[in-house]
Amino acid sequence: MKFKLHLMKKYSVLFFAIFLISSTTAQELSHSHLSNRKIEFPDIKGYNTLICDFHQHTVFSDGSVWPDIRVQESLRDGLDAISITEHLEYQPHKEDIPHKDRNRAYQIALNEAKNHDLIVVSGSEITRSMPPGHSNAIFISDANKLLKEDPIAVFKEAKVQGAFVFWNHPNWISHVKDGVAKLNPIHKQLLKDNLLHGIEVVNEKTYSDEALQIALDYDLTIMGTSDIHGLVDWLFEIPEGGHRPVTLVFAKDKTENSIREALFEKRTVVYFNNLLIGREKYLKPLILESLKVLEAKYIGKSKVLSVTVENNSDVDYQLINNSKYSFHRNSDIVVFKAHSTSELEVKTLEIVRSVDIEFEVLNAVLAPNTHPKINLKIEII
Ligand code: ZN
Repeated sequence: MKFKLHLMKKYSVLFFAIFLISSTTAQELSHSHLSNRKIEFPDIKGYNTLICDFHQHTVFSDGSVWPDIRVQESLRDGLDAISITEHLEYQPHKEDIPHKDRNRAYQIALNEAKNHDLIVVSGSEITRSMPPGHSNAIFISDANKLLKEDPIAVFKEAKVQGAFVFWNHPNWISHVKDGVAKLNPIHKQLLKDNLLHGIEVVNEKTYSDEALQIALDYDLTIMGTSDIHGLVDWLFEIPEGGHRPVTLVFAKDKTENSIREALFEKRTVVYFNNLLIGREKYLKPLILESLKVLEAKYIGKSKVLSVTVENNSDVDYQLINNSKYSFHRNSDIVVFKAHSTSELEVKTLEIVRSVDIEFEVLNAVLAPNTHPKINLKIEII
């Protein structure tokens, strides 16, 4: 569009300018109606649940959009914090977009976000063949200083800058043909030297059980990112109800410092498709905060308890009944739909004042093939 503009007549340019102004107004108007695509999860006790995507690209490396578009997409998705992580060593658009400063994409995004409630964290992708593969360093102070020949020297410089560093797509089939994430000696060295702090268990459209196991074995932060290069709407089919993968960060408040602290403390859960992945101590509170018992009463003179449950999260919870009771409307499988209320009828056999229903949450994982168990506490008033 921009190149053709030069060929247009004066009038066309004028017309184009009017079109731009009117489309901006239309965008602003529609902004308030886009709440249905915003990713929403409740806070947990003691922490704000912040929706974050710390792996995104623009034309400043191999992405297809200007950094301001990344900010606008993120606002539409209701994100709290993002990072633009350009490949340091891979710059395919350099001939067309020459830039001496590797902090440019961050600066443009930061400027775009300044009048919005979005935190932009500086970051870069350290882009090497395997091993060690690709890693993101975020909360850096100067990306230019990360341009070093020796990969270990780059990680050391990131540490000097106080960066949080995570291993990207360890399951990437261009790097590991079998798609199985595994540590190489260089990763073990990075871990030993405290130069690597997290690992992507989810990248773009992939999930890795093995990466999750590595996170648990080596005490790493569990990360999930979009690694978006094109448009999030197209790749993740957002108009059709999809969403980008995000890392839910449990931060003491909504500040850059608190997010950084939370990442180093491993307070994360990843939201990917209809799946939640995380450590039990954050996953369980998140699920329990998502589900609220609004009402519980016996139906007429029966001993069947009608329970109204509200789910105030984006996940459709898929549960399996582990309690001693059976249900009047369901088999042992129950689904509590996102942002909805559901009725559950429990055959308590006798009239009781309170009852606990233990569920296994099938669409949440705290380790490979391991699902959290929650207790839904029901009080009958
Ligand atoms: Zn990337």
